[in-house]
Order: sequence, then structure tokens, then C-alpha cells
Amino acid sequence: MFKIALLPGDGIGPEIIAEAAKVLRAVGDKYGHELEFKEGLIGGAALDEGGEGLPQDTLDLCRQSDAVLMGAVGGPKWDSLPGNKRPEAALLGIRKALGLFANLRPAKVFPALAGASSLKREVVDGIDLVVVRELTGGIYFGQPKGREGDRAVDTMAYSVPEIERIARVAFELAMKRKGRVTSVDKANVLETSRLWREVVIRVSEDYPEVHLEHMYVDNCAMQLLRDPGQFDVILTGNMFGDILSDEAAMLTGSLGMLPSASLGEGTLGLYEPVHGSAPDIAGKGVANPLATIMSAAMLLRYSLGLTEEAARIEWAVGTVLDQGYRTPDIAEEGCVPVGTREMGDLIVRAIQS
Ligand code: NAD
Repeated sequence: MFKIALLPGDGIGPEIIAEAAKVLRAVGDKYGHELEFKEGLIGGAALDEGGEGLPQDTLDLCRQSDAVLMGAVGGPKWDSLPGNKRPEAALLGIRKALGLFANLRPAKVFPALAGASSLKREVVDGIDLVVVRELTGGIYFGQPKGREGDRAVDTMAYSVPEIERIARVAFELAMKRKGRVTSVDKANVLETSRLWREVVIRVSEDYPEVHLEHMYVDNCAMQLLRDPGQFDVILTGNMFGDILSDEAAMLTGSLGMLPSASLGEGTLGLYEPVHGSAPDIAGKGVANPLATIMSAAMLLRYSLGLTEEAARIEWAVGTVLDQGYRTPDIAEEGCVPVGTREMGDLIVRAIQS
């Protein structure tokens, strides 16, 4: 039996998590897996209930589970709270508490949605890449940081073990994909990048089947727009990854379609859509559940090792889009408009078919 923690959170969170759970149940039934779901509170919903954005009960639940599927947190109701009390602080808190140091952000263009990209169809057709971003080190966390008179300091620091473990995530992933890693750094200027390169080369020796290349971050930003089809796995540090993963994601053109995974040393992982809690459409039944449904596919693949089942979900999403069904955020002329729940039902039916 697999135990899955569901953290719906705020805004559209409960609506999209309900659809993703429905899809996971359908996969469990089809392939004969027993899945147990338990819900926990996080974000504003948790603050309202007990005064803490990330309650201990929720952390305990996550630690006792095989994987965590999260909706989104935050909303205007809690915007006036100080930074460390806001629902969004729970996001950093949960990643830290679960030791999640690797962030995986795939960018895949579904043929039916290629028109939604800001780039020409022939440039984006067939994009299928993943950005592997180091999540707990680098300039966002390095010490010292702060102000001194009219100066401000941030420190970019990486250690060999930090680089090694994220590099392994990227190489392992490339082994299951097209076998290519592009390591992105700024080794012409930064000492941390020179160390990064050395360690990545050393780790690559354990993966002779994987083709490794190095790219400066400025060139990578350009290549993503010029010829994104050249990439398979992009491996990079925290800040470069933050920027490049947003750039890569937007090649697909739609926020409602982007899943993500955060992984640590073991198999426990946290899976969530890239988008936020969309308070402007919460409760209206129009949110696109596909980013969360595809996050559930990543959960099956990376935490439960259920590759075929994950692929079935992704196939179902492609099929339903090919049939022309669209939630309002990805609607186009001639499509069949559907709401959140109908979209979930369509994916379930495709899985069962
Ligand atoms: P957002 O991603 O919530 O929304 C941006 C726009 O995209 C909105 O117009 C929204 O309606 C639309 N949108 C987002 N997801 C959608 C979906 N699944 N289907 C259809 N439309 C969708 O970003 P925001 O408005 O900047 O932030 C709203 C709240 O979410 C804030 O409190 C913010 O801090 C929080 N947030 C949380 C996370 C997270 O939980 N990981 C991430 C980003 C923002």
C-alpha cells in the first residue's frame, strides 16, 4: 500500500487537489495498487485553524507518507501578515523540514497547445526538457548576508557534497530520459561555478551513458529561446535555476499546465503545480487541474516508482487536449469549454479506456 498525503491549501487548492486525487484513485484501480490518502492543513487554511501555517501534525503526516501532493497556499486574506507569518512561509518551511534539495520543473509542449507559446510553433514543437535546480544552497542561503551602512552583501557558496547530490539527481533522471545533461554555470567568472563544474565532471564518470555538456547561464538563457529542443536535463544552482525554470516553463505558454517535484535523499517527495492559489477564480469551478494532475504523475514516477502508471496519466492529458477540451485559461476558438471537475472526469475516463 502507498500512503499519499494531500495538502490542498488555499484558493483553488482544494478544487485541483480533489481532481488529482480522483485521477490517482483511477490509476490505482486500473493497475491494482492500493493508495491511502490522508489530508493535512497548510498555509492560510492552517493559520485559520490553529495559528500556524505549517502545523506539526502536517509535518508528521508528510513524514509518515510515501509522497506529498500539495495544492497552493496564500491569498489576500493573509496578505497583511508579516513575511514569516504569511502562508507562503510554510512552503519554505516544508521543503526545509523534509530535506528537499532538488527541484524538478519539466517543460513539455503538448502539440494541441503549441499555439499558446509566445515562440513560433516550429521552435517549440517537441520541447520536452526538465530543469533540475538546487534548492537549499547557493546565494539565497549563503552567509554572510545583510546590510552594512550603504552596502549590502549576499554570499554565493556551494560545497562538494551539495553539488554532488544534486548532480546525481540530474544524471539519474537523464538515464530515464534522453541521456543528456546540460550543466549550467558561470565558470568564466565565479569560483563556485568552477567548483560546480569540477564536481559535475567527477559525478559524470559514474554515468558513462549520459552525454554531459557545460553551458554558461547567459548562453543558456539565449539557447532556451533560440533552440529549446536541444535540451533534455538542465542541471543548475539555486538562483540560475530559479530564473531558467521560469523561462523554460513559459515556453509552454500556460501556467495552468506546469507541474513540479521537490526531492530529497530518499524517495519521499513533494509534488505541486507551479502556479499559485489563484484567488481570483477560487470557488468558481473553472481552475485548470492539469498542472496538479501532472504533478500527481510525477509523484507516481519519482516517489512510488510507477513509471507506466505515470505515463498513462500524461498520455490521458494529451489525449483529452487533442480531443479539444479546454478550461478557460487555455481556451481557444473551436475548443470544447469545460470546468475543473469535468476536466478531471475526462482524464479519469481516458485512463480507464
Ligand atoms: P497565481 O499563480 O495564483 O495566479 C496568476 C494568474 O494565473 C491568475 O490570474 C490566476 O487566475 C491564473 N491561474 C493560476 N493557476 C491557474 C489554474 N490552475 N487555472 C487557471 N488559471 C490559473 O499567482 P498570483 O496571483 O501571483 O498569486 C496568488 C496567491 O498565490 C498569492 O498569495 C501568492 O503568494 C500565492 N502563490 C503560491 C504559490 C504556491 O503555493 N506554490 C506559488 C505562487 C504564488
